[in-house]
Amino acid sequence: MTTIAFIGLGNMGGPMALNLCKAGHSLTVFDLVPEAVDQLVAAGAQSAANARAAVEGADFVISMLPAGRHVASLYLGSEGLIASLDASTVLIDSSTIDAATAREVAAAAGEAGIGMLDAPVSGGVAAAAAGTLAFMCGGEAEVFARAKPVLEAMGKNIFHAGDHGAGQVTKACNNMLLAIHMIGTCEALRMGVDNGLDPVVMSEIMQASSGRNWSLEVYNPYPGVMESAPASNDYQPGFMVDLMVKDLGLAMDTAESTDSSTPLGAMAATLYSKHAENGYGQLDFSSIIRALGD
Ligand code: NAD
Repeated sequence: MTTIAFIGLGNMGGPMALNLCKAGHSLTVFDLVPEAVDQLVAAGAQSAANARAAVEGADFVISMLPAGRHVASLYLGSEGLIASLDASTVLIDSSTIDAATAREVAAAAGEAGIGMLDAPVSGGVAAAAAGTLAFMCGGEAEVFARAKPVLEAMGKNIFHAGDHGAGQVTKACNNMLLAIHMIGTCEALRMGVDNGLDPVVMSEIMQASSGRNWSLEVYNPYPGVMESAPASNDYQPGFMVDLMVKDLGLAMDTAESTDSSTPLGAMAATLYSKHAENGYGQLDFSSIIRALGD
């Protein structure tokens, strides 16, 4: 039986930890919010008074925290987890954070002889609950091989993207592309409707043509075209605009760090930021179609 410590039991971490429990792993959890811990204890996990106590004797430590600063303060410094851990432990950070912080934390772990992966996820809360997340991992191949069976209890597609930070860069690239093709899909559907076309018929034609893409096919942003899409449920998330703004900020930081040209990514970041400022931050990201006029 594998002993796992899980830190950060929010919208994503809660259901991910639950799936580790269901898979029969021995789990000790910690979150700043006691109610989040209680839910896992009810499912068979053990609680701990703080993160340091949670990771005692753990084979794996998994963190799912809001941003880079939370991850750095959890692991680094004299009070951080790395200072107290045995070299046999494997660290897996699944938070979506900047690649620079992911590399800094992995380097500090490496100096202590501890293996670490950055392992951000794609799929959202529903996939976290269903155990069908995609993991994009950065780190040594040997550490990836040790971590893969644990990740398989929470995800369906587990990828090794490359060295430390590669998981975060892949996630930034993927979500930048997602934002761009969502906006493009919205523009095409809006222009067609403005010209008297039926969005259902248009979607069917474009799905069988070269404009085909995930936003059109799985997550259609036009209300009523696809029953299961947030667009048909008043844009209840799904994947919130505020989270897309965060991810596009990380993508723009990545582009700047390597002087990569991303004009459409920059445009998408501006459009999503304005959409959030206009009060739509809590809606699903496909609601960007509203920014093009109702
Ligand atoms: P969340 O805010 O719901 O959960 C974060 C949890 O971390 C909270 O329960 C909070 O109390 C806890 N926390 C913060 N600092 C802590 C600390 N020092 N010690 C212990 N617990 C601490 O966020 P979420 O939606 O679960 O997202 C987590 C990460 O996953 C983020 O990086 C986010 O970008 C990423 N992500 C989210 C989604 C999504 O759809 N929500 C999808 C993919 C990736």
